Amino acid sequence: MADTKKENIERECSHCGTTSELTPVITYVHQGDEKHVCVHCLPMLIHG
Ligand SMILES: [Zn+2]
Repeated sequence: MADTKKENIERECSHCGTTSELTPVITYVHQGDEKHVCVHCLPMLIHG
């Protein structure tokens, strides 16, 4: 039996609080801590 159930892994942006339901959210590690950032906040993160 094929299991077609999709895993619902929701992530929340550490910066603006949006969830991966609405916006792609990327997981990264900073100083040993795993964090999440959405694609809208990612440019801000890059530019400091
Ligand atoms: Zn964000």
